[in-house]
Amino acid sequence: MPGTGRFAPSPSGELHVGNLRTAALAWLTARSTSRAFLLRIEDLDEQRSRPEHTERQIADLRAIGLDWDHEPVWQSTRLSEYRAALEKLAAAGHTYECYCTRKEIREAQSAPHGNVGRYPGTCRDLTAAQRAERRDRGRPPAIRLRGQDAERSWEDLVMGRRTGVVDDVVLCRWDGALAYNLAVVVDDVWQKVDQVVRGDDLADQTATQIMLTELLSGGAPSYGHVPLVVNAAGQRLAKRDGAVTLADLAATGVTPADVVMMLLGSFGDAVDPAARTLRDALPGFDLQKLPGGSFPFEPPGVR
Ligand code: GLU
Repeated sequence: MPGTGRFAPSPSGELHVGNLRTAALAWLTARSTSRAFLLRIEDLDEQRSRPEHTERQIADLRAIGLDWDHEPVWQSTRLSEYRAALEKLAAAGHTYECYCTRKEIREAQSAPHGNVGRYPGTCRDLTAAQRAERRDRGRPPAIRLRGQDAERSWEDLVMGRRTGVVDDVVLCRWDGALAYNLAVVVDDVWQKVDQVVRGDDLADQTATQIMLTELLSGGAPSYGHVPLVVNAAGQRLAKRDGAVTLADLAATGVTPADVVMMLLGSFGDAVDPAARTLRDALPGFDLQKLPGGSFPFEPPGVR
């Protein structure tokens, strides 16, 4: 049975050419394999999410020719599902309370043998007495995944065979805010997503998400992590790089159709060179032939 792919933007700003490229690749990979395609609005970060960004994002995705099945799902409407999943994980012993401040984590990571980017494990094995003592200091705990330094491997559609170590990621912050890693997996399991195509900045989270998927009784999807679009200096493209959104580009005379042609050009042998629209590019689309390496984009008018 054909499965389901998705694009899951966070509405913290407008989509730029790099986000649009990832969205187009997710759509092409799903639709060319007869999958359903879903749009999910990952708006858990209350401080950065704005409804007007979602509206703009939806309009821009449509403008480059994407479509999706069903109404988009907003993560902010699903908090009770994430809490239920958290309780299930906690009841089965897969979580623990963490009282570390950011500063403490940074210091432990930068110590000799510290593991940059991963939780140092400080609160992993606290006794009940140690937990009580920390709680008495007044700060509620964050809840972390007990990752047990497990490894998970997957056959990435773009990067080939990959192995990563599960991190003890925060699932619920000390202030009660539910975390991306929990919500993304709860929703992928719930929506029966079996194909995830997204930016390669998320490849480091994949082992953790595979483990969480197993713990929540889902089947791990196939993953394809696509290289990001970079600016002239080789850094990940950002709003400050100039005319990088459809609206900015339109103001310089670059139409959505021009942007689609540029994206298609960046897909190299993955698409038919005669394609003029994303829909044209569906027959024969092959993500595995996507050129390796980041794609440089220099906004018009920026020198
Ligand atoms: N919402 C995440 C982001 O915008 C993407 C999540 C995912 O594709 O797994 O970075």
